[in-house]
Amino acid sequence: MGAAKRPLVFAYYVTGHGFGHATRVVEVARHLILAGHDVHVVTGAPDYVFTTEIQSPHLFLRKVCLLFCNVHGELLRGSDETVYSLLPVVQVLLDCGAVQADALTVDRLASLEKYSETAVVPRETILATEVEWLKSIKADFVVSDVVPVACRAAADAGIRSVCVTNFSWDFIYAEYVMAAGHHHRTIVWQIAEDYSHCEFLIRLPGYCPMPAFRDAIDVPLVVRRLHKPREEIRKELGIGEDVKTVILNFGGQPSGWTLQEKFLPSGWLCLVCGASESLDLPPNFVKLAKDAYTPDLIAASDCMLGKIGYGTVSEALAYKIPFVFVRRDYFNEEPFLRNMLEFYQAGVEMIRRDLLTGHWGPYLEHALSLKPSYEGGINGGEAAAKILQDTAYGKNYAADKLSGARRLRDAIVLGYQLQRAPGRDLSIPDWYANAENELGLRTGSPTTLMSEDTFFTPSRPEDFEILHGDCMGLSDTMTFLKSLSELDGILVSGITEKLQKRERKAAAGLFNWEEDIFVARAPGRLDVMGGIADYSGSLVLQMPTREACHVAVQKLHPSKQRLWKHALARQNAKGQGPTPVLQIVSYGSELSNRGPTFDMDLSDFMDGDQLMSYENARSFFARDPSQRWAAYIAGTILVLMKELGVHFENSISVLVSSAVPEGKGVSSSAAVEVATMSAIAASHGLNIEPRQLALLCQKVENHVVGAPCGVMDQMTSACGEANKLLAMVCQPAEVLGLVDIPSHIRFWGIDSGIRHSVGGADYGSVRIGAFMGRKIIKSVAAELLSQSTANGLTSDDLEEDGIELLETEASLDYLCNLSPHRYEALYVNQLPQTILGEAFLGKYADHNDPVTVIDTKRNYGLRAATRHPIYENFRVKAFKALLTSATSDDQLTALGELLYQCHYSYSACGLGSDGTDRVVQLVQEMQHSKHSRAGEGTLYGAKITGGGSGGTVCIVGRNCLRSNEQIIQIQKRYEGATGYLPIVFEGSSPECAPTQLELNRQSTRFRVWGRTRWSGSPTRPSRVTLRTQCRPEKEKGVAIVWFRNDLRILDNEVLHTAWASSQALLPVYCVDPRLFGATHHFGFPKTGAMRSQFLIECLSDLKQNLMKRGLNLLIQQGKPEQILPSLAKAYGVHTVYAQKETCSEEVNVEKLVSKNLRKVVLPSAEGVSTKHKSSNVTNLDLIWGCTMYHIDDLPFNCTSLPDVYTQFRKSVESNSTIRSCIKVPASLGPMPDVKDWGCIPDASMLGIQPEKACFERNVVHRGRKRSTETYKVTRNGMLGPDYSTKFSPWLAFGSLSPRFIYEEVKRYEKLRVSNDSTYWVLFELIWRDYFIFLSIKAGNSLFYVGGPRGVQTNWSQDQALFDAWRNGQTGYPLVDANMKELLATGFMSNRGRQIVCSFLVRDMGVDWRIGAEWFESCLLDYDPCSNYGNWTYGAGVGNDPREDRYFSILKQGQSYDPDGEFVAYWLPQVKPLPKEKRHNPGMMMYMKPIVALKFGNTKASGARRGGVEEKKGKSYRGNRVQ
Ligand SMILES: Cc1cc2nc3c(=O)[nH]c(=O)nc-3n(C[C@H](O)[C@H](O)[C@H](O)COP(=O)(O)OP(=O)(O)OC[C@H]3O[C@@H](n4cnc5c(N)ncnc54)[C@H](O)[C@@H]3O)c2cc1C
Repeated sequence: MGAAKRPLVFAYYVTGHGFGHATRVVEVARHLILAGHDVHVVTGAPDYVFTTEIQSPHLFLRKVCLLFCNVHGELLRGSDETVYSLLPVVQVLLDCGAVQADALTVDRLASLEKYSETAVVPRETILATEVEWLKSIKADFVVSDVVPVACRAAADAGIRSVCVTNFSWDFIYAEYVMAAGHHHRTIVWQIAEDYSHCEFLIRLPGYCPMPAFRDAIDVPLVVRRLHKPREEIRKELGIGEDVKTVILNFGGQPSGWTLQEKFLPSGWLCLVCGASESLDLPPNFVKLAKDAYTPDLIAASDCMLGKIGYGTVSEALAYKIPFVFVRRDYFNEEPFLRNMLEFYQAGVEMIRRDLLTGHWGPYLEHALSLKPSYEGGINGGEAAAKILQDTAYGKNYAADKLSGARRLRDAIVLGYQLQRAPGRDLSIPDWYANAENELGLRTGSPTTLMSEDTFFTPSRPEDFEILHGDCMGLSDTMTFLKSLSELDGILVSGITEKLQKRERKAAAGLFNWEEDIFVARAPGRLDVMGGIADYSGSLVLQMPTREACHVAVQKLHPSKQRLWKHALARQNAKGQGPTPVLQIVSYGSELSNRGPTFDMDLSDFMDGDQLMSYENARSFFARDPSQRWAAYIAGTILVLMKELGVHFENSISVLVSSAVPEGKGVSSSAAVEVATMSAIAASHGLNIEPRQLALLCQKVENHVVGAPCGVMDQMTSACGEANKLLAMVCQPAEVLGLVDIPSHIRFWGIDSGIRHSVGGADYGSVRIGAFMGRKIIKSVAAELLSQSTANGLTSDDLEEDGIELLETEASLDYLCNLSPHRYEALYVNQLPQTILGEAFLGKYADHNDPVTVIDTKRNYGLRAATRHPIYENFRVKAFKALLTSATSDDQLTALGELLYQCHYSYSACGLGSDGTDRVVQLVQEMQHSKHSRAGEGTLYGAKITGGGSGGTVCIVGRNCLRSNEQIIQIQKRYEGATGYLPIVFEGSSPECAPTQLELNRQSTRFRVWGRTRWSGSPTRPSRVTLRTQCRPEKEKGVAIVWFRNDLRILDNEVLHTAWASSQALLPVYCVDPRLFGATHHFGFPKTGAMRSQFLIECLSDLKQNLMKRGLNLLIQQGKPEQILPSLAKAYGVHTVYAQKETCSEEVNVEKLVSKNLRKVVLPSAEGVSTKHKSSNVTNLDLIWGCTMYHIDDLPFNCTSLPDVYTQFRKSVESNSTIRSCIKVPASLGPMPDVKDWGCIPDASMLGIQPEKACFERNVVHRGRKRSTETYKVTRNGMLGPDYSTKFSPWLAFGSLSPRFIYEEVKRYEKLRVSNDSTYWVLFELIWRDYFIFLSIKAGNSLFYVGGPRGVQTNWSQDQALFDAWRNGQTGYPLVDANMKELLATGFMSNRGRQIVCSFLVRDMGVDWRIGAEWFESCLLDYDPCSNYGNWTYGAGVGNDPREDRYFSILKQGQSYDPDGEFVAYWLPQVKPLPKEKRHNPGMMMYMKPIVALKFGNTKASGARRGGVEEKKGKSYRGNRVQ
């Protein structure tokens, strides 16, 4: 960076969001100062942060209070405190940053409140102070990292500004808003508004989406430079080279946490940053000075341990130091930073529990094995300073405009967050939390722009390709896939076999890498309530665990299967050649002391011609105890054969990898069964509904394994969802739905480590007891009934009811259908406490349970086993009701009490165990400790789970850090008492329906055949099916893709069809001069400047996206009917593929193109598709692609389209399905040899005045106003949600497919919530579809003055009236504001459009077509169908007479802009007026209304009155809208 031409004054605002921001500002400021400028830093960080690095009179520090607070607004304890407690007297609070509940948790609600209190309420004062200050220091330029109000203050002071950052508060607070409720939404818009005043963004690696910024320039990492070499630092600290050193860089350590010697493995030393003076450290920990220069210390260490933040991540990457990190709850930047760490192989995630309990060893050792590989440059400080300096001197940076896809993505991220129902989601949405997968692995790389690919398709490890399905962002699935992809490397790379575990070796030989592999995932479950009462038909509540099982399956022709040596030997011995074999590898064999592999001939399932019986299957798998486990896996095949009649003619290879621990009562077996059956079903094209799949898996367990389980485990595994409890009535398996776990409640599982209590009655005998009990109850009821009947019936109604009850009980199907009071009243005394098997059988013959067998010699506990399910069902129902009741301490206490009652009921049945009792006791001790009683209670109840007799205890508590600490204490105390450190299960699985993936190795080493493509129409979005497919050999030659209003890659059937039918593709866009001519009647520019600019951007995006797929976009100026035939001739094109349009201008062009193509005779048929060879002419193939519902899927012909929209909507919604998006392959090449691809036209080439369309800014701005409007209206309870998506411009140009929106909405609904807002988006898109189909039915009548209904009206074409309307000078602020908005931005809300349309045609009586053509010219989203369709409706000439409406301007203003904020924004004249006057300001304050309102009380100005008089004769026909 050279010396300054002229010294400048920079004002640099630094966010209060953590220390890393201040340190990176140092670097940028340092370079600015080096270049000779003055830098005034506005910061809350202590001086030394800046002065150790910059000792210069050109640095000025202005201290403001940028606090980190806790929920109570107090400073945080820990090292942050030490930083910030050094602050001088508070001057002003600009940006409070995130408020943290503790060192690892951001408190979002408190953050919003703090922001509101500190930045919104005193906003005017802040702005005034800042403007004055900026002027006082004569600032030339403002830099903000990334304090929103600084940008606005700069604008107010007339100074330019730029932001330098990796995150922005609009995005962060949008997330907080979701938790806090929509009434905080204005904060987000306010922030976006503030940011919009800055010119562009200098974006740092690892960035979050930042929708508020239109332009971004990427720079490398900004890190502080090193002062001293590693050796010198270590020498100074007295650390030998052989001492492994970790630097603990935590900032705000959890309170009450003491570092202990045993945390570190021997030979390790830990350098502690920011330790308070009072902190005592063990000998292997070294306290660093408060102002120690951490970059040097980091670089001198072997790894770093800390919480993720920009500073720690960037310095770890820069100095190539592995970073062991701990996640922070609700810290929105984290996924993006983590992503960057993972990408550069510099991160190891440590779970919080292990951090706190000091299980550091494995993580530290793992960290040392990493080889961080960041090479992306670390001179971001200098680069940013140079850009800032040059911009301040006036250089116009050609910023990397964020691509359309990127901007859209950001908008969707923000839009989705803001649309959520308030209070519903307290946790980070999974799709966002797992954004590293959604966003691709390269998010953080400064050199890689976000591409459409990385956002829209799931990311994939480098060396294999997911051909179909979705990982749903699950990191364990990604890890499994990665490990799968590395398997064959084991053999190829020649790593010594000795090093490989047996099972890995076996797995490496399992698959044929040239064939598809199908993967499914299924989680375990924590039994929250219900447990063993399932077999008695109880309601149960189950939570899918975070831990899951993955199964990979490959179906192969026997000749292609790689057989293990012994299996091959067996086959050879049979001498029949290759026959179908099942080979299974199951990981984790060492832990559970079993064999890792299993194989059998599929013919072993046959007994002669018959399928083997279940009984024989049980003994078959029981032969070898070390291979009994195979019954859970192979059993799925037998069950599919027996129950569904599936024939398995091919070999099957299966790899099982389960993270659900065995024997802990968390349903590891169900997870294995469900994952296996899902993968087998997927690989064999079987579509089995989740419920049916669960029932089949239960059969595996009951009949093949021989375990008498209920079905809830399999149901939860197959149908559960994250953060929800699956509610199911086990009669036999009716899923009632999902119950949200309220955000203040949390469930944990603590495993007792006890697999089976020897002394306890086992599950089977308790089950038998319950079934016996039912039998006895039935027989007692029957007896009572016969007595009543024998006594002669009475006519008393009450007694009749009693008899009915007895009748029901005499045929009681499930014990749980008996209520506790009936049990107590009639039956309890009839039931013996215990009964001998033979005594029972002697009296009752059978207990009617198909899966248990009574042992005649065994004594069964009967009364407790019967009582348990009857009461348990009642408890579970109460539990469910409580979960959804109002939040209170009583709620938690009652929930806890129900758990305890259940626990003791298990014990009464003999299903308790010492271990589980101990855990429950520990929970009670914790609950009743003085400490807990003094503050808020945290843990409230606990119970044994599942089958009992050991296993896992479920605990309910308050969702807070204190509870976590108590859980850890329980874990430790349990360890202290028993020597066993229990596993803690916490968190649920983000996605429980098995995810099916097909894998196909794409590495060149293994790929033997051609391309793959996406296709298929999924029945359920989560279970998409995809076939691999080569481009058909016979299709040859070149095809043209003629892009029209389908400027996209994704879901573009035209592109896909063209690719599939040719050897090479030539994508073409014709800049048709007719589009830039004049409108039909009134001669406005047909495509206005804004839309032209938007088109340019869309073309640019399309070109880039095509280039990424190995193609390009040929752009030619001229008419398609001239360009395309000549290209067809030059390139020997067999077919031109294009999207079918519906309106006459477009259809005419199609006709001309087709006609002229027919005149082209191809020079030679050689190499041309055989399909086309015979004709030797080029075809035009028009493909439907613009609607959400495909035209071929409509339940009627377009000519009989219903005239009423609602009829249309209902009909398609109930009769048609929406096709899934077409995915195009990653590579579309090769492309033909084109000399000149043409260039993206600029505005002047299109004959328009260059003008910056700034759609985002306009729309963001528009969104803000709408949001404000909605906020106010919602607050007043007058309007439902109105969150406009701003999709229309992209839809109009086809850059976005409506089907893609549909899929995203559905995906979102599946992941999170389905509500009116989510449906509403689709509802509006159906309107769009409707107008497109209507344009076919109505034909050109859509453009005629009488519209589709041919209505005769004497419209005026008064130029003065029209001019007043279009220029926003009608004297009606609401009309004027909307029209000004259209002029300035090219956009207007739907309501605005309706209002101005009604005003033009109703109140002014002006010809609707002038309005429609004006819209055609101005709108960014102009689309003939929607525009003319809506205008004909608005003018009362549309085909549905009921849509003929009058909009009362004043009423509309009162309803939708009650405080006049919208009009004040666009009309500065009305801004000073009181709110109630803004819509009706009167002539003195605004301008005179140009016409009187048809139904209003305004008087027109004298000059214009004539205009109204002229229309007197026209009678108004429409409905009146108030
Ligand atoms: C007089 C008049 C003229 C219009 N001209 C156009 C036009 O040229 N192009 C255009 O796309 N829309 C037009 N509309 C429809 C509507 O105003 C816009 O689609 C909508 O305001 C765009 O904003 P959005 O994307 O935020 O919509 P949202 O309200 O978020 O709706 C989502 C999507 O649904 C579709 N949609 C919503 N409302 C309608 C509707 N009434 N008719 C058709 N589709 C709808 C759009 O594709 C829109 O993008 C017109 C409406 C009126 C009253």
